[in-house]
Amino acid sequence: MTPNALPRRLTSTIIIALAFGVPAWAKTPVASGTGGAVATISEPASQAALAILNKGGNAVDAAVAAAAALGVTDPFSCGIGGGGFMVIYLAKENRVITLDHREVAPASFRSSAFAPDGKAMDFETAVASGMAVGVPGTVRGWHDALDRYGTMSFRQVLAPAIKAAQDGFKVNDNFVALVKENEQKFALFPETAGRYMRDGKALPAGTLLRNPDLAKTYRLLSTGGVKAFYSGKLAQAIVDSVNRPPVAAGVSVRAGQMSLADLANYEARWRQPVRSTYRGYELVGMPLPSSGGVTIAEALNILEGFDLKSMPREKAEHLYLEAARLAFADRNAYLADPEYVDAPVEGLLSKDYAARRRELIDPTQAHYYAQPGDPYLFQQDPSVPLRPAGAAKARLLSESAHTTHLAVSDKDGNIVAYTFTIESWGGSGITVPGYGFILNNEMTDFDFTGPHPNVPEAGKRPRSSMSPTIAFRNGKPAFTIGSPGGSTIVTTVLQTIFNHIDLGMDMPAALDAPRISERNGRATSIEPGFAGSAQAQALERFGQRWDAAAEEIGAANAIVFHPDGSVTAVSEGRRHGTGSALVQKRGH
Ligand code: GLU
Repeated sequence: MTPNALPRRLTSTIIIALAFGVPAWAKTPVASGTGGAVATISEPASQAALAILNKGGNAVDAAVAAAAALGVTDPFSCGIGGGGFMVIYLAKENRVITLDHREVAPASFRSSAFAPDGKAMDFETAVASGMAVGVPGTVRGWHDALDRYGTMSFRQVLAPAIKAAQDGFKVNDNFVALVKENEQKFALFPETAGRYMRDGKALPAGTLLRNPDLAKTYRLLSTGGVKAFYSGKLAQAIVDSVNRPPVAAGVSVRAGQMSLADLANYEARWRQPVRSTYRGYELVGMPLPSSGGVTIAEALNILEGFDLKSMPREKAEHLYLEAARLAFADRNAYLADPEYVDAPVEGLLSKDYAARRRELIDPTQAHYYAQPGDPYLFQQDPSVPLRPAGAAKARLLSESAHTTHLAVSDKDGNIVAYTFTIESWGGSGITVPGYGFILNNEMTDFDFTGPHPNVPEAGKRPRSSMSPTIAFRNGKPAFTIGSPGGSTIVTTVLQTIFNHIDLGMDMPAALDAPRISERNGRATSIEPGFAGSAQAQALERFGQRWDAAAEEIGAANAIVFHPDGSVTAVSEGRRHGTGSALVQKRGH
């Protein structure tokens, strides 16, 4: 089957549940049609985007509307207390631009922030603190995206989210499970515990949850614009929450040192995307400070030298794991905020460098631990950057689906791939009192100890893994994809592209297939149900080995663009509950 051969249903908005040769309980939300399309992990968010598209908004307007609604229904994975990365394709100009609105470290931040006595502090202690909070970038990002490429105002695009926050929604099992996972952290902060827990326990599934505080905050943005977030009372409330975290009696957490100037000075950045090619596709992804685009490109460049189609599936998957391992060794060693570190991106993206890395792969035996390579030899740029002195091993924490990714396209062919986050599930745990949103813990994405390019510094953006990606073929959009999941984001996007292009799966099957994530750690991360499967056993014959702690990996969303102009939106059928894929009805 060719990668673009997806089921077409040129009907009105439909959500169909299909089984794609995978377990019977897997139901993949898929919608096809000829108008604008949206895929998110939340029905109200997809509906918000659709409503904006139906009102004549473009993909940027609809993406912000969906994101704001996700801030209501998925407050533990995203929201205005965090930051993100947006990849925008402008059809008329046939151009891609990316918007980095990653959180930055406050001006007071020091490299010893998470290692006060030279030793890295306990991760969970670091997370639930004012110090973990970076200056939030989301509202600035939404504003800049709308201002430059949107057609609507905050007032228009925030309206569906305000209604969702005001009217409330019934919490589902997934929501409850996330609160349960975070009971300890949330209990530290009464404003958070009071909203999501009762008597120290998660609210039961089915509870109608309203968030009038967040509705009020969104209204504030509707009338006051971006300034209402980065100055005035709301900015003061953020600073107070970071510097004197509103904790329960008898609790103490580390305070941060954020100033009103940190908020007032926050800037998003328009950046040129990372471009690479793979078997006739052009892939366009997120540049640094996200490691996503570069790492995916390097892994695919390595894989491109193998004739994967002629191999048994397990051999191709073995090579996928090995390519990811090598690319991650480089990512872990070299990548960080480009405004602070001269990373050897050109070398890492070079096909010649990939050929050198490919020589290290044994097609019959797993490598276990890869050393970073020497991309500096492949830098053409005469200003050869300095090599970093140290390359700490990556902290490979348990990585679940925290963060969220959404994909939107409009009838004119514009596309937005948008991943945004508050970092861990429930971020720092600190809700800004009276404003209804949780502050991020993005500063813990820095490496806690150095020397390493990704150590904390004032004004720096911590390295990310977020990988919103758009693929083109013959100069036209072919598909867009992205996912949450910390560093597994990179492998989820990589594996889905590999499944789709190399294994010939259609996008629903590519998305649904079991995820295996190799990040040059001790063992490859797997999902529940994978260990012991025939697929796992076949890979074990290559020496591949699995992490004992199986966990759901990612929660991807995609849109496929067919050569005849129709589109298919695809969301998750089971990970993080069930996603939502919608396409505009005819007539809009
Ligand atoms: N903080 C992560 C990153 O920027 C995303 C959060 C997550 O998915 O774990 O890569």
